[in-house]
Amino acid sequence: MKFTPAQPPIFGETLASLTARLAEAGEPAYRARQVLDWLYKKRATGWDQMTNLPHALRTRLAGLFDFDPSALVSNRQSADVTDKLLLELRDRSLIETVIIRAPQEGVGLDRSRKTICISTQVGCAMGCRFCASGLAGLKRDLSAGEIVHQLIQVCRREDARTARANAELASFDNIVVMGMGEPLHNYDALLRALAILNAEWGLGFGARRITISTSGLVPQIRRLAAEPVGFRLAVSLHGATNEVREQIMPVNRRWPLEELLPAVREFAARHGRMVTLEFILIEGVNDGLDQAGRLRDIALDLHAHVNLIPYNAVEGLPWKRPSAARQQKFVSVLEERDVSVTLRREKGHDIDAACGQLRLKVERDRAAAGA
Ligand code: SF4
Repeated sequence: MKFTPAQPPIFGETLASLTARLAEAGEPAYRARQVLDWLYKKRATGWDQMTNLPHALRTRLAGLFDFDPSALVSNRQSADVTDKLLLELRDRSLIETVIIRAPQEGVGLDRSRKTICISTQVGCAMGCRFCASGLAGLKRDLSAGEIVHQLIQVCRREDARTARANAELASFDNIVVMGMGEPLHNYDALLRALAILNAEWGLGFGARRITISTSGLVPQIRRLAAEPVGFRLAVSLHGATNEVREQIMPVNRRWPLEELLPAVREFAARHGRMVTLEFILIEGVNDGLDQAGRLRDIALDLHAHVNLIPYNAVEGLPWKRPSAARQQKFVSVLEERDVSVTLRREKGHDIDAACGQLRLKVERDRAAAGA
């Protein structure tokens, strides 16, 4: 499912594709680099700022490409350190991009470590039971330009906050492809977007600082393992046995653990990277010590890091978060055998930061208003 706009976003062009497109219009090859320099290094906010391009070329570019494939609808800052950007695309679809700050001692929030969480689809087909994004199914894939533009929106916003417009890139430390959608379901657009983020003519963002999070699509994990660029991989496990995982993640019926875990092992071996296993702790569902023991064994076998996330209540879903004591017991089982584990402090609870909740709320309000 794709949306084909009248003009493709300029942010989906690579150096090669833009050079070819401009050559068709009779422009010399160096013009493509000039355009990309304005987009990613100088972060122009419109064609008119590209003052070293002839006026006629700027007009032609404006006819060929969309400069603003998304518009900022709202920017909600939580009481802690999470900002959520709600973006509206050209077809009025809504997506979410989240900025997560990790405060450091003696350092102001503006200079704290920042992770940007981006979306790859509108809605999601995977139907993970804890997730608001999956509730209404998949609407469509994002294009590479729409994926990249989320980072541009973040940069512009950070530039405005820190009064560093047209200076060096607003700094962020990590990108996690963990927002709305199953990234590996939109494989080609994702890889093109990441190539643009990674390229020296693009955002120049190191592959080691980009994590792709998947619900566990085995063929795509193997395909990703074979890619030359080594991004980081996080796998949503959420159950350490098929029986428990199936209650939470329908994808497990298609790709059960006996198929998923070897694919993850292959990825780790090819890229020499520690994979992260995401595990949402849900009371009475997967927070038992038997699950902790199985998870510990899987993590030891894969030499993986475990990220435990206490469940975040979703309106309309019955599950609950385990008590702090129960969470700690679960952690202890993993720590007993020196598994690398983190128990995530929740961020953004007060702004519906759980996957897809803000978008869902706004879409429901729109439907109620007949908009
Ligand atoms: S958790 Fe991710 S993969 Fe699962 S339904 Fe939500 S968006 Fe899709």
